[in-house]
Amino acid sequence: MPMGGPWRAALVGVLPVDRIIMHVDMNAFFASVEQQADPSLRGRPVLVSGDPQGRSVVSAASYEARPFGVRAGMPLVTARRLCPGAVIVRARHREYARVSHQILAILRTYTPLVEPYSIDEAFLDLTGCEKVSGPPREAALAIKRAIHAATGLTCSIGIAPNRFLAKMASDLQKPDGLVVLESSDVPRLLWPLPVTRLFGVGEKTAERLRSLGIVTIGALAQMPAALLQQRLGPGAGRLVELAWGRDVTPVESEGAGAKSISHEVTLPVDTADESRLQELVLDMSDRVARRVRRAGLQGRTVEIKLRNAKFQTIVRSRTLDGPTQLSEDIYAACLKLLDQHWDRSPVRLVGVSLSQLTGAGHGQLHFPDGRERQRKLAAVTDAIRERFGEDSLVRARLLSPRKPEGEPS
Ligand SMILES: [Mg+2]
Repeated sequence: MPMGGPWRAALVGVLPVDRIIMHVDMNAFFASVEQQADPSLRGRPVLVSGDPQGRSVVSAASYEARPFGVRAGMPLVTARRLCPGAVIVRARHREYARVSHQILAILRTYTPLVEPYSIDEAFLDLTGCEKVSGPPREAALAIKRAIHAATGLTCSIGIAPNRFLAKMASDLQKPDGLVVLESSDVPRLLWPLPVTRLFGVGEKTAERLRSLGIVTIGALAQMPAALLQQRLGPGAGRLVELAWGRDVTPVESEGAGAKSISHEVTLPVDTADESRLQELVLDMSDRVARRVRRAGLQGRTVEIKLRNAKFQTIVRSRTLDGPTQLSEDIYAACLKLLDQHWDRSPVRLVGVSLSQLTGAGHGQLHFPDGRERQRKLAAVTDAIRERFGEDSLVRARLLSPRKPEGEPS
């Protein structure tokens, strides 16, 4: 695609002007909600678990339990052994969702640009909101007070010029933190940290970096981008950008006003492997569908975005017969689009989006028999993922053996 006309205009739109981005992260969310509900649990190690009797895992550990080495995701048996004095509480997900909505409603009084990131995290874009919300640090203190007054809970807040740094900032002080991170703080505060702490960098990429002898974020920042790209593929340039604290990802609010809900990834290594692409598209269809359901929406137009190694981007869409909030429908449409429009050249970025969004009130969606079952299954899947995290359920398709990334097919 030539770099003129509307494409150029779109690029100007994402230039990193001074933005004020905030990341709000609730502290030990499920466990703290339980400690608020039952004062006898306060000050004591609390483990929240789906099924306290069965062979379950810890979905949340209170701060009192953490010095014992207990972490979310750990088998309950192990956690009990490490911290025999812990009180084990059965998870109440409806209650956590209710409190989460209460918190989001508070955040939306500071800016309309609120992006729920998980049940206990959100990004806010406060750029231009100073007249309403005050200087960022004041706004953060007010938000902490308002959340505490309404729910009794504490949170850690990061404020920075972009989304990536805001997330890194909230991570620096827990619990009940408030960290303002400027780009100039990056060498002092982020560079000593291990690459595993980089937000948005998966375990696999971190492993590849470590195999190149890059252990800290600082070491990554000092890597010549060209050399890293030679080893890991063109996508690796983004890693160096992150190590310098540069990120232009926008904060995207959801709800009735949203035009589309999308998810995209830049691959650490370009790929021309069709099954790998299909896996990525399935994973993203899942994520998009889940966000659509969480926002109480359904959508009719499925769009796929592919960017090749030369930074040429194509966007192609299909409009479905009716609106959907199921990943199966989104995935099926994406596969057809891939089939028709992908020229088999190596891909560096893949995106999936659903647009023409409308509200999905109860009773508005009519599925033929099998589809009603799929819809119920999707609701169960969502609940499990909120409880145990993103990787708790992996579709069989994603587990199939495949060639390592970057190998020519
Ligand atoms: Mg949290």
